[in-house]
Amino acid sequence: MGPPRPDATNDPSLRSWVAVPPGSPFPVQNLPFGVFRHRRRARVGVAIGDHVLDMAYLHEEGLLEGIPLPRRVFARDSLNGFLALGRPIWRAVRHRLCELLTEERWRQRVGPSLLPMSEVELMLPIQPGDYVDFYASLYHASNMGRILRPQQDPLPPNWRWLPIGYHGRSATVVVSGRPVRRPWGQVSTPDGPIARPTRMLDFELEVGFVTGPGNELGRPIPVQEAWDHIFGLLLVNDWSARDIQAWEYVPLGPFLGKSFATSISPWLVTLEALAPFLAPLMPQEPPPLPHLTDPQPLTYDVQLEVALVVGGREEVVSRTNMRYLYWSLAQMLAHATSNGALTRPGDLWATGTISGPEPGTYGCLMELTWGGQRPLALGDGFQRTFLEDGDTVVMRGWCQGEGGLRIGLGEVRATVLPPL
Ligand code: MN
Repeated sequence: MGPPRPDATNDPSLRSWVAVPPGSPFPVQNLPFGVFRHRRRARVGVAIGDHVLDMAYLHEEGLLEGIPLPRRVFARDSLNGFLALGRPIWRAVRHRLCELLTEERWRQRVGPSLLPMSEVELMLPIQPGDYVDFYASLYHASNMGRILRPQQDPLPPNWRWLPIGYHGRSATVVVSGRPVRRPWGQVSTPDGPIARPTRMLDFELEVGFVTGPGNELGRPIPVQEAWDHIFGLLLVNDWSARDIQAWEYVPLGPFLGKSFATSISPWLVTLEALAPFLAPLMPQEPPPLPHLTDPQPLTYDVQLEVALVVGGREEVVSRTNMRYLYWSLAQMLAHATSNGALTRPGDLWATGTISGPEPGTYGCLMELTWGGQRPLALGDGFQRTFLEDGDTVVMRGWCQGEGGLRIGLGEVRATVLPPL
């Protein structure tokens, strides 16, 4: 019940026999899961420092003996099979990995499973059957309301009663590093609608969560059980074409202004690794209805930033934190299944843009430039209202622990290609 709590695998004094550079996002206390390709074979890996641990090799070598794992569960091109197994198995694997990587006696047998990260290709970690995007940050939702509907109450009347969301397009979820092409679409002009490449291409800084065991069709996941279904977190850039979105979204919500690309980071950081960074959720007023009342109203203290690379120069344009969510991940999952909708292992859920209370903490250009009215000044005389072709967007996330220990989510990075 509730999110995993810290245990011996989170001990900041643990050291691995694998050299981990100081400040690495992937110390032995992290152990995030991903999928990599090496010599044309895809398999599941775990990041440690600058290396990737080949989980298929460890499994074949009998080093995960005693844990009831299906044959070849790691010799696959997605984590979905492992995600289906559930928290007791996830936890047993984490504890075994912690032992294998911290006890010197395992060095000889485990050593051959390590590959330099620079020699592998990081792939999409999951095959998401479904993708949902929420709208769960109070500051973001309030700002968007002020920008788009200045005469009205910034928050829609339902906002504090349910975590608003929409179903996105899972087939266009792509991994970090893959460029994103500027989409064409229909936009509204004073002379009527025309089709053209978007002129309002934006990023959205979000945290994604990936679920494991699903539910039975027709049976909701109760909020007090929802945490048990969540495997871990990654970073999401939910690209948005604001001019396409503005014209199409009434009354059914986002469609082509969102579905051209969603970029995710390659490493999935487990809730176990994040346990020391649990933080209280913002107060919820009015209290949610009983079926959405999370008995453990918690989030994580994950520091987030967005940098733009413009003209070869990188500059951080926003710094924010996952603490600025109004709804908990468990509330989002409970709400999304409250009608009995089905979820399956490997499904992707994103929080929605995360913004804080001040301008430097806003998670998208729409807010940072206040609807395009205030261009963002970058160094070397560059400025941006929305993204231009050739711009690169980099998002990073990490938890800062004791003694310089950092549990990182890594980064999600992509460059904008010109339209076709
Ligand atoms: Mn979004």
